[in-house]
Amino acid sequence: MSMETVPKSLRGLRACMGCSLIKTVDQFELDGCENCPHLKMKNDRDAVQECTSTNFDGMVAAMCPEDSWVCKWQRINRFCKGVYALSVSGRLRPNYIKDMKSRGIPYKPRDTSQR
Ligand SMILES: [Zn+2]
Repeated sequence: MSMETVPKSLRGLRACMGCSLIKTVDQFELDGCENCPHLKMKNDRDAVQECTSTNFDGMVAAMCPEDSWVCKWQRINRFCKGVYALSVSGRLRPNYIKDMKSRGIPYKPRDTSQR
């Protein structure tokens, strides 16, 4: 079992705005986001800054997303194992959303604090 997606430290944590996966800046830069390869964060620190947010609320560890009701509720049951934020402030830039649309990937803002 790979633990690569689990944050290695509590410093410099950021949450992906596409899927709310939480990792460190370094991990995002090294591996990109496992759920959002289309955001092209791998080896691109600028993209990491644009597509992730330091402003997030709550953390939930998803160890078996397939059969966790929390994960179903958070709509992350089809994502990889890892630590996810309950709410991520901020939105992806329009060019990313357009790119996702053109690939048939629905974008749901992860910011639930303003509902
Ligand atoms: Zn992501």
